Amino acid sequence: LSERLGGVFERLTKQGALTEADVSTAMREVRVALLEADVSLPVARDFVAAVQKRAVGQEVLKSVTPGQLVVKIVHDELIQVLEGEDEPEALKIDNPPAPILMVGLQGSGKTTTTAKLARRLSEREGKRVLMASLDTNRPAAMEQLAILGQQIGVDTLPIVKGESAVQIAKRAKSQATLGGYDVYMLDTAGRLHIDEVLMDEVQAVRDIAQPRETLLVVDGLTGQDAVNVATEFEDKVGISGVVLTRMDGDGRGGAALSMRAITGKPIRFVGMGEKIDALETFEARRIAGRILGMGDIVSLVEKAQATIEAEQAERMMKRFQKGLFNMNDLRMQLEQMLKMGGMQGVMGMMPGMGKMAKAAEDAGFDDKILRQQIALINSMTKKERANPQIMQASRKRRVAAGAGLEVTDLNRLLKMHRQMSDTMKKLGKMGKGGMLKQAMR
Ligand code: GDP
Ligand code: MG
Repeated sequence: LSERLGGVFERLTKQGALTEADVSTAMREVRVALLEADVSLPVARDFVAAVQKRAVGQEVLKSVTPGQLVVKIVHDELIQVLEGEDEPEALKIDNPPAPILMVGLQGSGKTTTTAKLARRLSEREGKRVLMASLDTNRPAAMEQLAILGQQIGVDTLPIVKGESAVQIAKRAKSQATLGGYDVYMLDTAGRLHIDEVLMDEVQAVRDIAQPRETLLVVDGLTGQDAVNVATEFEDKVGISGVVLTRMDGDGRGGAALSMRAITGKPIRFVGMGEKIDALETFEARRIAGRILGMGDIVSLVEKAQATIEAEQAERMMKRFQKGLFNMNDLRMQLEQMLKMGGMQGVMGMMPGMGKMAKAAEDAGFDDKILRQQIALINSMTKKERANPQIMQASRKRRVAAGAGLEVTDLNRLLKMHRQMSDTMKKLGKMGKGGMLKQAMR
């Protein structure tokens, strides 16, 4: 992807903001790259649209190329989609014995993952775990789980010939209750393809066990197909999370993005090998890096952004020391606050401003208000921004109307500017002694 984007952007200017045309060209390449990484078409399409919206208008930093900046934006968006709304939570294994149902196609790695997870729960979290194989089709599969259980020192439900999956599930439940286990894991039989028989059986087991977690095990190398499998299982059985196996292979991880985007279910773990300890918690950043295959560019842009911010801060500090603080300075502050997620972020770091920031936040100073204030400043003329004192009634009406707001909103902004300007002047004087300098580091 980096090569592709590099090519696209060589022809572009290196300064200014990303234009719609720049981004469109790059996004065609990003889309191809996503498809090559096995991301499904509709997901790739939505994703590209989201990135496009975010990227247009972003300032291109001096020290990076537009292409590198786009890669960073793509990377951040990937992480956002992969992580979903909330942070991945721990497995729900309260109310012992907590049933965990393992589902998926044959050969996806269910049995291996069952043992890996059992080992993790027992060794790391000190849980008493019971594993049961519900694979009635293949006696070897039951043996396989029993052998793994012996290896890791986790109990398995004794094998009884001729039982149905539902009967085994019932027996596992009562054994887990009687035996005082914290968790019992049900390793279901898979099929090569999704079929009714399999789904009926899994549904029946689900109804008996009422699992706290239903984990879908998917081969990370299957790419596009993974999405169909995930959708089917989600519709018919309902899943609480996904485990992606074979991520030690050369698959690019696009399945992770597709499954996350389409099912909305969190990816909980990734299988990183055949060995019993090769199970890792899912980390969006790692998979995002893998889909893009260019972690170094991302960190380069991050560094460049940090430098720019430091330079800006330095420039502002020099102005404050001279007692200068006009609407352009205020706008930069407001934008910074938006970026850092609130008043406290920036002002809180400056001496004397912490209290004000707190008061502003208490007064409901949220993102919406920050955006309104930026809009007000944007609707001022250059002259008004440099000299807000010249704002009289007619100018105020024009500026407020331009931002789609009321004059009272503008008055509030002007008052805040006056207060901040006074504080800055005082700080500026102190700053000569080095205090402000230190505060801004
Ligand atoms: P099941 O049919 O879903 O129960 O699949 P198995 O657990 O029996 O696994 C099928 C094969 O995949 C076995 O040879 C496993 O060792 C292998 N396997 C499972 N997980 C991983 C993984 O994360 N990486 C690799 N390389 N192989 C795995
Ligand atoms: Mg199996």
